[in-house]
Amino acid sequence: MSEKNLAVEIKDLVVEYRTDTGVVQALNHFELELEKGKTLGLVGETGAGKTTAGLSMLRLIPDPPGVIVGGSIKVDGEEYLTKTEKEMEHIRGKKVSMIFQDPMTALNPVFTVEDQIAESIALHEKVSKKEAIAKAGDMLEAVGIPRARGKEYPHQFSGGMKQRVVIAIALACSPSILIADEPTTALDVTIQAQVLEMMKDLKKKYETSLLLITHDLGVVAEICDDVSVIYAGTVIEHGSLEDVFNHPRHPYTEGLFNSLPDLDNPTAKLKPIKGLMPDPSNLPKGCAFCPRCEYAMPICETEKPGKSFRNEEHYVRCHLYENGDAKEGRIGKI
Ligand code: SF4
Repeated sequence: MSEKNLAVEIKDLVVEYRTDTGVVQALNHFELELEKGKTLGLVGETGAGKTTAGLSMLRLIPDPPGVIVGGSIKVDGEEYLTKTEKEMEHIRGKKVSMIFQDPMTALNPVFTVEDQIAESIALHEKVSKKEAIAKAGDMLEAVGIPRARGKEYPHQFSGGMKQRVVIAIALACSPSILIADEPTTALDVTIQAQVLEMMKDLKKKYETSLLLITHDLGVVAEICDDVSVIYAGTVIEHGSLEDVFNHPRHPYTEGLFNSLPDLDNPTAKLKPIKGLMPDPSNLPKGCAFCPRCEYAMPICETEKPGKSFRNEEHYVRCHLYENGDAKEGRIGKI
C-alpha cells in the first residue's frame, strides 16, 4: 500500500449523547482519513453524525450530554483525545478551524466585522491591535470584500457576504485544516457557486486541507478529491470522487444518486430512498441500513458488515460485497 500523507486520521471513534430518554449513538466506530492539501467530502443525511464528527475533531461536543467514549483522532500525527482543554484552546482557530452553516449565528452583531477578524488573529498571534486590524483588512480582501467595509456591522452585509466574513475569520490564522459544515446550504444557488469557487482558491492559496461536511452531492462534485459516505454514525463507503461517483457500491450511496433529479429527463419522477434513518438510540443489530435496503439478506439483520475493498482506496461496508464484487449481479435492479 502506498504511504499516505495524512492531515487527519480518525479511527474507531465512538460518540454518544446520554440523555434522560436514552443513549443516542451518534458515531459508531467512525473513521476518516483526510490527506494533506486535499478536500474530503463527508456526505450523508441530516442526523447521520456529520456535524458530530466535525465537532469531535475540535473537542467541541457539548458535554453533557455528549461523551467521546473511545477511539482516536490524530491531526498531523498528534492525538487530540488526550490533549488538555488549554491545549485545545490553542489549536482551535489556529491549527484547525471550523465554518458553520449559518453565518448569522457565527458573527457577533454588536462588533464590526474587522474587529471580529482581528480578535481571532490577536488570540493566536503575537501582534499589536493595529497589526491585527491591518491583517483583518488583508483577509477581507482575500475573500473579495473591500477592506473599507471592515468598519461595518454584520447586519449591513448580505448572506453570501456574511459567509465570506466567516471564512475570513476561519482562515485568518492560516489553519492547516479547515472543517466546513454545510458552508453554502443557507445561501442562494448563485451565491453558493461563488462561495465554493472562492473556497477552492483560498484552500490552494493557504495550502489548507479541507473537510467539507454536506448533504449535497453537487457540492461534493464541485470541490472534493475524496468522498466518505456516512450513515447512522458509520462510514459505509469511501473512495476517490471518481470511485464513488462512477462506481457507487453501497445500496445507500446508489440511493443518494438515484434520488437526484435527472437532468437529461427532467420530467422523470425522483426516486427517494424509502423509509427513514433508524432511531440512533435503538440501532438495528446488524447493518443499520437493513430496514430500508431492498437487497437485505438474513445475515444483514444480525451481523454488521466489515469493509470490502474494490481497490486500495475504495471500500464499502455491505455484505453483498464480501465475496467479491456483487455489482455486476445486481446492476439493473435498483
Ligand atoms: Fe443492504 Fe445488507 Fe448491504 Fe446492509 S449489508 S446495505 S442490508 S445488502
